[in-house]
Amino acid sequence: MVTRRYTFRLYPNKEQEAKMLNARRLHCYLYNACVSDRKYEWKANRKSVSYMDQQNCLPEFKECWTEYKGLHSQSLQATVKRVDFAYGAWFQGLRRKRSPNGKKRIKPSNRWRLHRKRISQLQRKCANQRKNWQHQITSEIASRYDIGVTEKLNVKGMTRKAKTSKGRRQKAGLNKSILSVGFGELNNMLTYKIEEKGGIVLKIDTKKVKPSQRCPQCGTVHKEWAELSNRYHVCDCGFESDRDYSAVMVMYNVAVGRQTGLGIHLADVDDSSTTSKTRKHTGSMKQLGQVKRQSSKLTKGAVLETPPSTK
Ligand SMILES: [Zn+2]
Repeated sequence: MVTRRYTFRLYPNKEQEAKMLNARRLHCYLYNACVSDRKYEWKANRKSVSYMDQQNCLPEFKECWTEYKGLHSQSLQATVKRVDFAYGAWFQGLRRKRSPNGKKRIKPSNRWRLHRKRISQLQRKCANQRKNWQHQITSEIASRYDIGVTEKLNVKGMTRKAKTSKGRRQKAGLNKSILSVGFGELNNMLTYKIEEKGGIVLKIDTKKVKPSQRCPQCGTVHKEWAELSNRYHVCDCGFESDRDYSAVMVMYNVAVGRQTGLGIHLADVDDSSTTSKTRKHTGSMKQLGQVKRQSSKLTKGAVLETPPSTK
């Protein structure tokens, strides 16, 4: 069973917005009431209040504070549960962390705190924007195609520090942009979205295939193509194209079992990298049959000798 969480963006009108803000305010009060209840019970009676204690008080609480009658009881339980989670996390933190050093403790200034808050706000906004973009782009791709071909990514290796001091700053900048796009996450999203509709995703091992160095037409590996400054690829066989485009062509050729070049057969490069093993079929029998046909076509192409490149 797959658990999926959907996130929707609401565009409420004035009235709805006021209602929701009011609900949030009430939840906030409830949260604080739960916290102070726990604190009080411990201070006065040395009694630790559990989640169930507080949950069982909710009906009574609603009788007293009638404005809570408009809120769903499960949502109130969720807020009480959040208090419980927060307490649990706090106690765990107490166990793990060392006690604070009383002498060295410096009180952070208001200005510093304000800056921290602003920075974390911006970071959160940035992360949200990225996630939104990732979902949009992967949903669009997944809605259009049943077979996805991606690279087996090694983000850790890709974002390693530059070996020589020469390109250090350049590499640092590239690393930052690799991480900021979130390739790994993009790959994951695309995979689950395509698989969910019964498609297949091939993950090609780029260490063996070298899509950015191989000529899609004749299969020759050009070491110098790996240089990032080399944006346009020209091969002796007459092939020439943009760097990214030629890399994608190699990946496509490998996926359909058509890439020429030494040892580049799908059977060789693509061991265990198909995600079909973990694939879940949610569609009809007709869809299932289609998928089967597709995958058998792919493996057949892999077993066959690679045909000469078509022009
Ligand atoms: Zn070539």
